[in-house]
Amino acid sequence: MSKKVPNRILLTEDRIPKQWYNVRADMPEQHEPYLNPATMKPVALDDLTPIFAEELCKQEVTLERFIDIPEEVLDYYRMFRPSPMIRAYNLERLLDTPARIYYKYEGNNTSGSHKLNTAVAQVYYNKKQGIDSMTTETGAGQWGTALAMACAYFEVPLQVFMVRISYDQKPYRKEVMRTYGATVYASPSNKTDVGRAILAKDPHNTGSLGTAISEAIETALKTPNTRYSLGSVLNHVMLHQSIIGIESKIQLEMVDEYPDYVIGCAGGGSNLGGLMSSFMQDKLTGKANPHFIAVEPAACPSFTRGGYAYDFCDVGHITPLAKMYTLGSGFIPTSIHAGGLRYHGMSPTLSKLYHDGYLDEARAVGQKEVFEAAVLFAKHEAILPAPESSHAIKAAIDVALECKERGEAKTILFGLTGNGTFDLAAYESYNDGTMESYALSDEDIKKGLSTLPQI
Ligand SMILES: *Cc1c(COP(=O)(O)O)cnc(C)c1O
Repeated sequence: MSKKVPNRILLTEDRIPKQWYNVRADMPEQHEPYLNPATMKPVALDDLTPIFAEELCKQEVTLERFIDIPEEVLDYYRMFRPSPMIRAYNLERLLDTPARIYYKYEGNNTSGSHKLNTAVAQVYYNKKQGIDSMTTETGAGQWGTALAMACAYFEVPLQVFMVRISYDQKPYRKEVMRTYGATVYASPSNKTDVGRAILAKDPHNTGSLGTAISEAIETALKTPNTRYSLGSVLNHVMLHQSIIGIESKIQLEMVDEYPDYVIGCAGGGSNLGGLMSSFMQDKLTGKANPHFIAVEPAACPSFTRGGYAYDFCDVGHITPLAKMYTLGSGFIPTSIHAGGLRYHGMSPTLSKLYHDGYLDEARAVGQKEVFEAAVLFAKHEAILPAPESSHAIKAAIDVALECKERGEAKTILFGLTGNGTFDLAAYESYNDGTMESYALSDEDIKKGLSTLPQI
């Protein structure tokens, strides 16, 4: 195999993008407005500012195309960005595919994922507004860690509500957060009304992302000058993650490449939205037509088996409602190891792009096949991938094999969102042969969808 393209396509620090790209500026239609859960009327900016920092609320609704990245945020980005684009030569050789496979690696920081991109921005805007402390939830732990790192840097105290099952299964994740100065509670906790109500009914409740979100928001609203922060789903998060796609496009241009396929795992949609950003701009403006694929777990298939409907973003029903692909806020996902993909809903903007056919395709993949792909990748590409990221690996391998069948030398780009160093319990279960591939019945899906509000 000739190697005209280097393994690692690196950008020097001075080529770090100075602006984020807002895909909403180029969408022909926007997602339906968020609804206030008390009135069921579209939310006003004033409904959101008690929850989120004001600048983030503005970014949530703006249709401005490019937004300057503040110098203070760039200073932090320079410690771990630009992130590498890597040509997966060894994987290509192994699959014997004519396709060229590239991946954008976001796992090269202590939080272990892309989430640091938005954490830094969010804490910066809170700090600038003079906010005294912040709250958030974390499932698998990557988001809590990223926010703890950013809060430590900007010296903002942080309370993290960590889904109980992860709190128990991933003690070292909790320890990283504590090392960065965060206070970590297992959710459901006795710190909030929502948590106490759930514990009263079921003292051994193992928690969910939806419950932890409710607890974190309740705490933010009850603590003076405190705001909440969310690591996915929302427009301002996707905006910050656009840096992944902007860098990717420059890196591929450096080797005269343009992706035919752009593939990302989808939990709340932020990394995929970010990776797609510049390429989606090309699609929306008629300059190119890459094929986008969202990959989700078969155990939590919001795109492939959910409904496109208004739903709550949390279990306690205190967040605004969003029109999105959802399994219902009452849907309880089985405890698969890709904790970052266990969310009942999906970014409203990504949902709109999928509904309108710009996000071309969604695939659901089973847990065991995901880990087979993860181990294959780890052995040949030298990175132990996060379980979430491995969903994208699995789909990229499948697409590369489809290319082989058709004899097509296509270019595939996928997002490697994180490393799996903290996910060894998952690999242990795979290595022991005790990992299960859950099949969701139609009844499970129906049960979740029956919790959708009637609107
Ligand atoms: C959180 C997380 C995801 C999923 O979140 P999105 O908002 O859908 O990107 C994917 N990969 C990793 C490593 C994560 O931590």
